[in-house]
Amino acid sequence: MKIDFDAVVIGAGFAGMYMLHRLRGLGFSARVIEAGTGVGGTWYWNRYPGARCDVESVQYSYQFDPALEQEWEWSERYATQPEILKYANHVADRFDLRRDIQFETRVTRATFDESDKVWLVETDRGDRVLARFVIAALGCLSSPNTPRIPGLADFEGPTYHTGHWPHEGVDFTGKTVGVIGTGSSAIQSIPIMAQQAEHLTVFQRTANYTIPAHNRPLDPAYVREVKANYREMRKRAKTLPAGIDLRINMASAVESAEEERRRQYQERWDYGGLGFMASFSDLLLNDESNKTAADFVRGKIGEIVKDPKVAAALAPTNIIGCKRLCVDTGYWATFNRPNVTLVDIRNEAIERITPIGLRVKGKDYTFDCLVLATGFDAMTGALLKIDISGRNGVSLKQKWSEGPKTYLGLTMAGFPNLFAITGPGSPSVLTNMLPSIEQHVDWIADCLAAVRARGATVIEAETEAEEAWVGHVGEAAGNTLRSTCSSWYVGANIPGKPRVFMPYIGGLPAYIERCEAVVAKGYEGFSVG
Ligand code: NAP
Repeated sequence: MKIDFDAVVIGAGFAGMYMLHRLRGLGFSARVIEAGTGVGGTWYWNRYPGARCDVESVQYSYQFDPALEQEWEWSERYATQPEILKYANHVADRFDLRRDIQFETRVTRATFDESDKVWLVETDRGDRVLARFVIAALGCLSSPNTPRIPGLADFEGPTYHTGHWPHEGVDFTGKTVGVIGTGSSAIQSIPIMAQQAEHLTVFQRTANYTIPAHNRPLDPAYVREVKANYREMRKRAKTLPAGIDLRINMASAVESAEEERRRQYQERWDYGGLGFMASFSDLLLNDESNKTAADFVRGKIGEIVKDPKVAAALAPTNIIGCKRLCVDTGYWATFNRPNVTLVDIRNEAIERITPIGLRVKGKDYTFDCLVLATGFDAMTGALLKIDISGRNGVSLKQKWSEGPKTYLGLTMAGFPNLFAITGPGSPSVLTNMLPSIEQHVDWIADCLAAVRARGATVIEAETEAEEAWVGHVGEAAGNTLRSTCSSWYVGANIPGKPRVFMPYIGGLPAYIERCEAVVAKGYEGFSVG
């Protein structure tokens, strides 16, 4: 049987781009299929006002090419979406990636042919491509969640989803705007929309924690220092649980004196960013410790937000860091503006969207534009949108009916030669995504080369190895407070989704060690044939 490509890669975000580069380097023929008109993945789609990465720009970048690392200049501590997209385009140009990317094409189906050991990949443009390997580089947060609120289609004004924002941008000047959601996307965009809109009404189901970004232009001396030490910095980052240096303080919060706790939290609040959760080592292990950090942030909200009723409604009641911590610029203070109203809907769901607004608790709200900052069907949504069938015609949907099952978050038993970059069961979203992506891409590239070197054509995870890994992922999750709330980590934001903690929480170093051990033992847990 003649195949069209050694590999089809689905998605041209940071994962798909680097995968293509590695495949080419190994002499494999590859085609990347991408739904958008350009590269960049999450940074191509999420163009809402204020979109930025919450990992510092010098760390949120590729490290596979030292020259690229040296030549690229980030302008701010936290890069904006346009700057990150520019970087993605620079990488695509620099490595001449576009000639192997088919844009504006969505993969609709992938079917494994057991007799010929090839995948048939089909697209919405009618392509039928035969490939030995399929590599899903779909991103973890790329399938937007549009909530099933009655009447949504009846709204007469424009509706925007933060995860699928119009390329030409949206000007809210003189408009009244309703926003549903208070996750990271909302927390970044609300302060900017509030500056433009005549009036902004925020519908909050769950109050969220956010830490100031204290974003600023990068000091050239600091950039020089980073560049001079990039190798060591990257190497060290891989020895840290989240793959980022968050300056973890190994002390326990409950065992520290009140004064020391305050000092730590204040110092990290003033420094800004995700490192707040590294104030003490037990914030996600011990309820009491967690409460000290949560109380500190609640206190800050009370200080910043002038109306005590609004401040009380904005104060989160759940565990800090259980849902992903947010990083903001001026979020709490935005609620002091006369043109911003908070509507607390924690006890009552939105009844319906009406042609001119929405109804909740029997009360009607009206606005010109509706913004859905309602997140994503995380980690599994994008893969399950594709009709994937493996051995014996079993679909991935069937296999994952009780939650995702993978070996190392990379492969699935029953689905030979199919790989997922940063799939469920890998550290992915709990880490700096860029190094995690690179680690997966390198692992897959080396694996394909090893399969070829053995004169083999098929590699498949064994069921027992997969079961053991799924058990380990679940066990690790059970040890932390992170699995205890209704977050997208457990699929709780999507009605009917099985409730399983999806990412691997054992930390990047342990995970990398495990991936390397599997290789060292001749691809332990895989059958190669
Ligand atoms: P999200 O965190 O899932 O937030 C969605 C929001 O919509 C939540 O407040 C949710 O309320 C609300 N919601 C959903 N359905 C609703 C309904 N039917 N009625 C009322 N409210 C509803 O989504 P996100 O803000 O897009 O962020 C997702 C993830 O993307 C983040 O956690 C982060 O990992 C990543 N992200 C990163 C950045 C960054 O790097 N700075 C920026 C944006 C996003 P509940 O909480 O009650 O479900």
